[in-house]
Amino acid sequence: MTTPHWIFGDQLGPHFLTPAGDDGPGRGTPVVMIEARSVFRRRRFHRAKAHLVLSAMRHRAAELGGRVTYVRAETYREGLRRAVGGAPVTVCHPTSYAALRLVRSLSGVRVLPARGFLVAREEFAGWAGERGGRLLHEDFYRWVRREHDLLMEGDHPAGGRFDHDHANREPPPGGARRLDVPGPYRPREDDIDAEVRDDLDRWEREEGVRFVGRDGPRRFPATRREALSALRRFVRHRLASFGPYEDAVLAGDPVMSHSLLSSSLNLGLLHPAECVEGAERAWRQGAIPVNSAEGFVRQVAGWREYVWQLYWHFGEDYRHVNALGHTEELPDYFAELDADAVTARCLATVLAQVRDTGWTHHIPRLMVLGSHALQRGWDPVAVTDWFHRCFVDGYDWVMVPNVVGMSQYADGGRMTTKPYTSGGAYLHRMSDLCGGCAYRPTERTGPRACPYTAGYWAFLHRHRRLLSGNARMRRAVQGLDRLGDLDEVLRQERRRAGEVP
Ligand SMILES: Cc1cc2nc3c(=O)[nH]c(=O)nc-3n(C[C@H](O)[C@H](O)[C@H](O)COP(=O)(O)OP(=O)(O)OC[C@H]3O[C@@H](n4cnc5c(N)ncnc54)[C@H](O)[C@@H]3O)c2cc1C
Repeated sequence: MTTPHWIFGDQLGPHFLTPAGDDGPGRGTPVVMIEARSVFRRRRFHRAKAHLVLSAMRHRAAELGGRVTYVRAETYREGLRRAVGGAPVTVCHPTSYAALRLVRSLSGVRVLPARGFLVAREEFAGWAGERGGRLLHEDFYRWVRREHDLLMEGDHPAGGRFDHDHANREPPPGGARRLDVPGPYRPREDDIDAEVRDDLDRWEREEGVRFVGRDGPRRFPATRREALSALRRFVRHRLASFGPYEDAVLAGDPVMSHSLLSSSLNLGLLHPAECVEGAERAWRQGAIPVNSAEGFVRQVAGWREYVWQLYWHFGEDYRHVNALGHTEELPDYFAELDADAVTARCLATVLAQVRDTGWTHHIPRLMVLGSHALQRGWDPVAVTDWFHRCFVDGYDWVMVPNVVGMSQYADGGRMTTKPYTSGGAYLHRMSDLCGGCAYRPTERTGPRACPYTAGYWAFLHRHRRLLSGNARMRRAVQGLDRLGDLDEVLRQERRRAGEVP
């Protein structure tokens, strides 16, 4: 009899079930899926995330029909016992250390290589081995472009350069409240979503399961068909303006030209290859400019692959590094997504987006939420856990490097060459969030002192010694000596440390 194949809730696309020459699943192989309630009991997830994951799993089970044994159990261990007894199963390499440990500890489970990424782990190990010291994203990205012949013209990058960042850092168009692009794909809920919503209500009511964030109509694809529609709509109507405005932020247009594909990629509904190939095709057909194609390919074939590889490369202890010695607890307003308690317009706006949708784009994550946590010295483990639970696309492998390394600089610079944080001037330049705010990005003391501007100087001062050894930060640190009111800024920030900004 064929060995059944177990798929996790982030292995939902067809590429997790197609034959791949590894003695894994073939056509018609029986499939096992386990919905483990303990996952939701252990951590307080955003309700929209819980809804999306359960909806996607149940939709996949419905598609697989009689081929799947779908078990609702307390734990994975119990679920597997109920599904196959002690019989052998295969499973693709899971996406977290905890899940990998689990599958390796279960007798009869054979772990196949990971799927759903462009670069195999051994290929990365080969590349990293040749680099010796620093594993820079830019080097990795160029290597992937060449190896996978992505956006290349022979030996040369399309458009004459690998890096179109210079064209992809535009502030929002002057005076615009929204980008002039058709909106993103929106799914329509069905009976499976209604059943999921009922279950979540019941778990909250009767079983003490707790969520954070607001429930609302599902905004992200739960099926392969929906995910393909979202990808098609993005490439056809929105990708052209993705490049220039990928770093810009508008209060009234949270999505702008972003793809909203992260949750579909991370659920395994889409393969990254089909996303970047779609972008390249659109460029070759003359439908989109090269800087937009490159900007998107950089995100998917560069950053996403890089983060996946670093998660494994840095090892399991990486999540606990704390180079800056940050130990402050997350304040309640942040933990509870209580945007209405916040005065600073940027933070209130972004926190409300997270509360209402479980998503906000890259720059609000990095330069509003993450930067504030960094400036205030919050414990990076707690910040990582918060991001993981509150975002629809949050999974261990993607959150740990993005938060610990990129956003909190807790690894002391293994992943990035400098901490990502700024004063209010950057946010003012790249967004419309400072207009109408009670604070002023140009003021660092007094009642209108911007928490980001004052927080930036207080952060630089706190880590002056460490940061002055970083060539990219030296000038900023030297700027501290030119501030006539530094003592006043520091006193004020100490006083404001426990206040809601
Ligand atoms: C603090 C912080 C936490 C983050 N947490 C997550 C997370 O849990 N899950 C997640 O998928 N992304 C995460 N990101 C990366 C990025 O912010 C999101 O992928 C992106 O905002 C998702 O929206 P989108 O699909 O519209 O992306 P787009 O802007 O349209 O980008 C296209 C795709 O590129 C990929 N991508 C881009 N940057 C990254 C990155 N740094 N890491 C991984 N993939 C990337 C995503 O798959 C995304 O869908 C995080 C970034 C930061 C700074």
